[in-house]
Amino acid sequence: MKTLSDINFKDKKAVIRVDFNVPLDENFKVTDANRIEAAKPTIDKILQEGGSVILMSHLGRPKGVEEKYSLKHIVAKVSEVLGVEVKFVDDCIGAKAEQASADLKPGEVLLLENLRFYKEEEAGDADFAQKLAKLGDVYVNDAFGTAHRAHASTTIIANYFPEDKVFGTLLAKEIESLDKVLKNSEKPVTAVLGGSKVSSKITVIENILDKVDHLIIGGGMTFTFIKAQGGKIGDSICEDDKQELALEILAKAKEKNVQVHIPVDVIAADGFKNDANTQVVDVREIPDGWQGLDAGPKSLENFKKVILESKTILWNGPLGVFEMENFAKGTIALGNFIAEATEKGAFSLVGGGDSVAAVKQFGLEDKMSYVSTGGGAMLEMLEGKTLPGIAAILEA
Ligand code: AMP
Repeated sequence: MKTLSDINFKDKKAVIRVDFNVPLDENFKVTDANRIEAAKPTIDKILQEGGSVILMSHLGRPKGVEEKYSLKHIVAKVSEVLGVEVKFVDDCIGAKAEQASADLKPGEVLLLENLRFYKEEEAGDADFAQKLAKLGDVYVNDAFGTAHRAHASTTIIANYFPEDKVFGTLLAKEIESLDKVLKNSEKPVTAVLGGSKVSSKITVIENILDKVDHLIIGGGMTFTFIKAQGGKIGDSICEDDKQELALEILAKAKEKNVQVHIPVDVIAADGFKNDANTQVVDVREIPDGWQGLDAGPKSLENFKKVILESKTILWNGPLGVFEMENFAKGTIALGNFIAEATEKGAFSLVGGGDSVAAVKQFGLEDKMSYVSTGGGAMLEMLEGKTLPGIAAILEA
C-alpha cells in the first residue's frame, strides 16, 4: 500500500482529493469541521516536507454552478484548522486553476472550487480527470467518504499518475482498521450488526460470517429472525419476505461455527414514540399492539459477556431506536461494553452510518479504537467489495 512516506514531497505539488463536504449554516458558516480536521495530518506532512498542496473536494449536490455550494464559504475555516492562509480559485480546471497552481510556492495551500460544478466529475469523465491531473505532480486520495464512487477526482485521475499516486493518512487508516478486523484480526472476533432492516445488511452479514466468531444481531432486524423462528413479535418492524433468508443466515452461521446472539428480551412500547408506555418482555412473546424498540436487560447481559471476551469488535448499527431517549439505553450500554473491552486491549471499529452518529452523540468516540469517517464506503468494504478509489491507487 503506497502511502505518503513513499514520496518525497519537497518542491512537489500534491493534488489531494479530500472530503470537505461539511455542513454549513444559513450564513454559510461551517458548523462541523471534523472532515477538515481529519485531512489535516496528510496536509501537514506534505507542507512540512516542503511541498505545496492543492485541495479538491465536492460540497453538497449542486446542479451546475450554484453559489450556495461554493467552496469559498469554507476557506476561512480551512485556513483556521490548518494554521495556513489558504488561497482559493473559483474554478477547479482550466487556465485560472492552472495559473493558481503554477504560482503556488512550497508550504502554500490552494483550495479549488467545487468539483461537482462540472457534471463530468460524477460521470468519471477522463478529459476532466486529465485537466485536474495537470494541476499537480503527485495525486493523493484522502477522501474515504467518496472512495466507493468511480468519480473523476476519486478514481479516474489516478490513471494520470501511474507512479505518483498514494493514499493519504486518513484513507490509509480506514483501510488498516478494516484489515485489523477482517483480515489480521486477533480472535475472538465479534461483529455487532444492528439497524432497522435485514435487507440493507444482508451482504455485510454474508461477508463477515467467514471472518467472525460471534455475531450479535440487534435493532429492528431482530424481529425478522424471531418471527422466522416462530416467535410472536406483536407490531415490531419486520420484513416478512426476508424470513427465509434469516433462517438461511442462521444455518450458514452454524455451518461456519459462528455463534449468533439475538436479543432474548426487549423494551416493548405501545407506540413508535418516546413517551409511549413500555414494558420489558420476552422477545418471542410481544403482545399485539406492542413493538420492540430496544434491547432488554437480559439481552444486554448476554451481549456484555460476549463483548468483554472479544479481542476484535466491529460495530455497525444501533440496538434500538436511539434517536428517542427512552429507547437509546441498549445502544448506549453496548457502546460502553465496547469501550470497556477496548480499554482492556481489544481493537474496536465502529463504522457505517448510524452507529457512528450514536457513538458521537453519546460521547464514546474517543473510547473506540477507530471510528470510520465514511458511511456508504465503510458498508461497501464490509460487504467485501473493492472500492474503486482504493483500487485506483493499488493498480500499477
Ligand atoms: P440502519 O440505517 O439500517 O443502520 O438503521 C438505523 C435505524 O434503525 C435507526 O434510525 C434506528 O432508529 C432504527 N432502529 C433500530 N432498532 C429499531 C427497532 N427495534 N424498531 C424500529 N427501528 C429501529
